[in-house]
Amino acid sequence: MQNAAFAAVGLDWSYELLGVEPERFDSVVRGMPGEGFVGANVTIPHKLAALEVADSATDVAQRVGAANTLLFADGRIEADNTDVAGLEASLAERAPGAPRGMRCLVLGAGGAGRAAVYALLLGGAGSVTVWNRTPERAGELVRSFRSEAASTELETAEKPDASTFDLILNATSVGMARPGGDQAEEQGGDSFKALPVSADELRDGQMVVDLVYRPGGTRLALAARERGLRCVDGFDVLVHQGAASFRRWTGREAPLEVMRRAARDP
Ligand code: NAP
Repeated sequence: MQNAAFAAVGLDWSYELLGVEPERFDSVVRGMPGEGFVGANVTIPHKLAALEVADSATDVAQRVGAANTLLFADGRIEADNTDVAGLEASLAERAPGAPRGMRCLVLGAGGAGRAAVYALLLGGAGSVTVWNRTPERAGELVRSFRSEAASTELETAEKPDASTFDLILNATSVGMARPGGDQAEEQGGDSFKALPVSADELRDGQMVVDLVYRPGGTRLALAARERGLRCVDGFDVLVHQGAASFRRWTGREAPLEVMRRAARDP
């Protein structure tokens, strides 16, 4: 997606995959500017370490407590979080007006869950309820955003009734694995076994956001589309967060359609 975008705007840059062990993360990142890198995206499990290694961080990265984008300039490392902007832009594109006033259920309290809750608060959600497999993490998330919540009700739930929400957002990693993999992958791939929502609970007028990007779609996103519900899927958000990172690194407008085609059909 990024390579297609660089080529489309005539930049002779390349986007490369670096697998980094957690214990080597700091030294690898600190060495990157010297190797000619202008920036990086960072994913699981390094998003917290990315914030910590940086010399400065944008407000949004600080509030979310995780960074997915790094910029190297003038010998300094800046951390940013474009997952929030990616979700905001996806909602604006697929569901104008959302999440203002909506009752929202967020599944997951990791880095993506935190970015999602922050985006929903900024968007004026009516209420945000957070469920997490490990309930203590949902409690921590809610406490840390309490001061941000203003007119939004913010709470946790251990057994939410999904049918009572206007917007259901999956920010867990459930659904990442491909069907047909090993047993653990199969279980991970079945959103409806591991999450407190079932296809039967989806009702007309609801909206589903699934941050997990998976070719062919996750079971949750597929079920939402089958029912004719508005749905933002992981590829929508992936493209928009990538476009936001692209703008930060290059200072240029991102070629969204080129990125969208490359992400969905690499
Ligand atoms: P993370 O910090 O590792 O958090 C993982 C979350 O998933 C935690 O809430 C964890 O619950 C939960 N979880 C993991 N396995 C589970 C299971 N079997 N049953 C129930 N809950 C489970 O990861 P993250 O950075 O938040 O990312 C989460 C997902 O969002 C990933 O799939 C990632 O690719 C996706 N994402 C997509 C985009 C995009 O652009 N589309 C952007 C960001 C993230 P516990 O706390 O109980 O472990």
